[in-house]
Amino acid sequence: DRVFKGTAKTRERLSVVDELLGIWSLDDYEATLEELEEALIAADFGPKTALKVVDRIRDGIKAGRVKTADDTRVALKDAILELLRKGNEKQGAGSSELKLSSSKPAVILVVGVNGSGKTTTIGKLAHKLSNEGAKVYLVPGDTFRAAAAEQLAEWAKRANVTVGAFQDRAKPQKVIAQGCETALKDGSYDVVICDTAGRLHTAYALMEELEACKKAIGTGTGDQSQPNEVLLVLDGTTGLNMLNQAREFNESVAVTGLILTKLDGSARGGAVVSVVDQLGIPVKFVGVGEALEDLQPFNEDTFADALFP
Ligand code: GDP
Repeated sequence: DRVFKGTAKTRERLSVVDELLGIWSLDDYEATLEELEEALIAADFGPKTALKVVDRIRDGIKAGRVKTADDTRVALKDAILELLRKGNEKQGAGSSELKLSSSKPAVILVVGVNGSGKTTTIGKLAHKLSNEGAKVYLVPGDTFRAAAAEQLAEWAKRANVTVGAFQDRAKPQKVIAQGCETALKDGSYDVVICDTAGRLHTAYALMEELEACKKAIGTGTGDQSQPNEVLLVLDGTTGLNMLNQAREFNESVAVTGLILTKLDGSARGGAVVSVVDQLGIPVKFVGVGEALEDLQPFNEDTFADALFP
């Protein structure tokens, strides 16, 4: 994981930064900083975060630390790295790692709107944990979409993990409570991953349902501190739209980590920085393709290196 994949398009979009630094002159730095700010906004850093980055470079110039184009490049990267670290640290050091209980089973609740890549991501995550030696059990908590459980079962097969079977049209919170109880009683499962519905057009009802699903995990496992992780899957190609979505989910189910999907083929990778900066919720993984292996653990350093090599 020392190289961050899936950022080629974003990097391309940021090539204008290289051009700006190519004509860098300390005599006329304000004009360049302005253009730099625009370039960051165009790469989905968002106005607030772009301003913060440029302000930090300006501080460096005024303090005499930043003089040359190279200094400016280093200052730019440092500013981005600092924003990523600060945002991610709000949930404690080493926050890009999953925090799973050692008592069995650990439970992960996965939320996100339809189309964000939630099902695919659960498949990838199950594969990753399974590869690391964990026995994984999937719970199809999206009882709203007829095909959702089938799709999840499909991914379970690919990842070679177990998926629970439940009655058609059962209440999602019931499916989740039962799923957790089954895994607990079985005793051999290390991690339970619960899928949930993601219908967009009835946001209020969805949020109520998700809160009930979260509580159901405590009921099913007999451990009110569960779930260990509430992961929100966001479509990384939607740029700053992710912010509002994340705020809404966070309000109802207290999100502990983000997974940004579809960063491959997207030029909007800069939004990762603004999401971390604006929300203070750590990014745990990034989706970089449609295959089972295409889930990349998030790391601030490799990400900053990928954007500004
Ligand atoms: P859900 O409705 O949120 O469960 O979304 P799906 O898991 O069905 O994914 C929706 C579409 O996005 C599918 O075509 C996936 O193959 C695609 N997808 C999901 N994650 C990624 C990713 O990281 N990269 C790319 N390129 N496509 C992805």
